[in-house]
Amino acid sequence: MGISRRTLLGGLAAFAGGALTAVAGDKAAQAITADSPLPLAGGYAPGTHSDRRTPPRHSHTSVRWSVDVSQKLVALTFDDGPMPRWTPQVLDMLDELKAPATFFLVGERVRANARLIHGRLGRHEVANHTWSHLDMAKRDFGDLHRDLLRTHVQIRTVTGREPTLLRPPYGHLGGSTVLAAAEFGYTVVLWSLQMLESVYVHHPAGLADYIAGAARPGTILLAHDTGPEDRLVAIRNLPRMITGLRQQGFELVTVSDLLGAASESPAGPSATGPSAEGESAAGHALGAPH
Ligand SMILES: [Zn+2]
Repeated sequence: MGISRRTLLGGLAAFAGGALTAVAGDKAAQAITADSPLPLAGGYAPGTHSDRRTPPRHSHTSVRWSVDVSQKLVALTFDDGPMPRWTPQVLDMLDELKAPATFFLVGERVRANARLIHGRLGRHEVANHTWSHLDMAKRDFGDLHRDLLRTHVQIRTVTGREPTLLRPPYGHLGGSTVLAAAEFGYTVVLWSLQMLESVYVHHPAGLADYIAGAARPGTILLAHDTGPEDRLVAIRNLPRMITGLRQQGFELVTVSDLLGAASESPAGPSATGPSAEGESAAGHALGAPH
């Protein structure tokens, strides 16, 4: 597929941030993007405010795939709930095992299924996974701000807790995603290990053993508490997986506790200026051995 001159210019404008778009004129950019979910002529949304005057409320955000810790800590995360199918079973199993997890919740599902999590979160953490499982990379800041705020308020209303973490659906993120995360003071949390349900669909014990064997200190493990049938292979084997992790000396913690353990550790990211800090946080996570 060829790249049109217009698309290229749009991309350059997004990349260059202030100067070039200011020359092109914000009004022109708005006209192109006003009714399009793909800002700047089909390109990606910029990581700066279109009016060039409003900085995000926080000077930086960080993107985490895993966390640098010396202790054998692992964070188990569940995406896409709450849904009647499987969320209650997952919560029951975690209760039985006294294992904490972080739930990246979809706002409209929290509204529809509030009873499933109300009073049931105990040791767990709740976090933002957008209102309707949005592909964030394709939306501009205004869209994302509205979406995340609505989800944040819904989660707070039902759980009484303030989310501090964002996981963009599909792991898709663009400039506007990190800008919106900075606006809310969220840390963007991806993952370093995931359930390979389709590979192990006929070999459930193998999946539990694979996860227990592949975990490292600071691993963020992706699972789902809803979705297609093959994901049941992971959910049914949670006890085996968690027991296996514990037998190897791992402790399960929430993502925020994992991040907290890193900041207490001498190996954690050092406090430097805003721009250097963002780079160093990403660099640390990328350099993790998995
Ligand atoms: Zn998701």
